[in-house]
Amino acid sequence: MKIVMLGAPGAGKGTQAIKIAEKYGIPHISTGDIFRANIKGGTELGMKAKAYMDKGELVPDEVTIGMLLDRIKEADCGNGYVLDGFPRTIPQAESLTAALEKMGDKIDFALDIEVPDEAIVKRMGGRRACPKCGATYHIEFAPPAKEGICDKCGAELIIRSDDKPETVKERLDVYHKQTEPLIRYYRGAGVLRGVDGTKELESVFQDLVSILEA
Ligand code: ADP
Ligand code: AMP
Repeated sequence: MKIVMLGAPGAGKGTQAIKIAEKYGIPHISTGDIFRANIKGGTELGMKAKAYMDKGELVPDEVTIGMLLDRIKEADCGNGYVLDGFPRTIPQAESLTAALEKMGDKIDFALDIEVPDEAIVKRMGGRRACPKCGATYHIEFAPPAKEGICDKCGAELIIRSDDKPETVKERLDVYHKQTEPLIRYYRGAGVLRGVDGTKELESVFQDLVSILEA
C-alpha cells in the first residue's frame, strides 16, 4: 500500500501517518524528519535545507526529489510506505509518478487532511516534537504522559524552530501556492480521498482507516 498524506502544515499528517504506519506495518517517511536529522547531524544536505526551513520556504526540488526517490528504493519499502510531507510541489509529484511508473507501480491513496488556516495556527503553537523518534504531541490536544518527555522513547521534547507564528504564516502561504494544487493532481489520478481534519485525532484516524479498508 503506497500512501501520500496531503494537507496544510499542522493539519495532522505526521500524527496520522505514524498511526497508519504502525497499523499496516509499513514505513513512515517524512522528508521534514529526514531534513531535521541531517541538520542535527551537521551534514551538507542539512545545512542547505536549514536555510530554507528556518524561513518557512520549501527546500528546492533538486535536493528533495533525489533524496526521496533514493529512500523509497530501500528494502523496507517493499510492501509500501506512507509519505508525509512529500510531494509538496507539482514537479515532486510528477517525479514520483514517473519513478513509480518505471516500476509498473503507482500511489494507491492520496489522503487529504482538511483543516482551515485558523485552526492550524492554534495547533502549531502547541506542537511539541520528539527530536529522536519523530513523535508529535500537542500541549492541549495530545499531551505526553509526562510533561516534556516523549512517551515512545523518553527523549526531551522540543518546540520546532519553524513553529513560530511568523514562520507558520509563511508556511501556510507556501502551502496554498505550491502544495494545494496537488489536491487537483491526485484527484485527476483518481486516488484522492479527503477527511475532516478538525475532528478529534482518533476519529480522524478511524475515517482514514475506513477509506484504506473500503
Ligand atoms: P503535520 O505533520 O501535518 O505538520 P502534525 O501531525 O505534527 O501536523 O500535527 C500538528 C499539531 O496538531 C501537533 O501538535 C498534533 O499533536 C496536533 N494534532 C494533530 N491532529 C490533531 C487533531 N485531530 N486535533 C487536534 N490536534 C491535532
Ligand atoms: P514538515 O516536517 O513536513 O512540516 O517540513 C518542515 C520543512 O521541511 C518544510 O517547511 C520545508 O522547508 C521542508 N520540507 C519538508 N518536506 C519538503 C518537501 N517535500 N519539499 C520541500 N521542502 C520540504
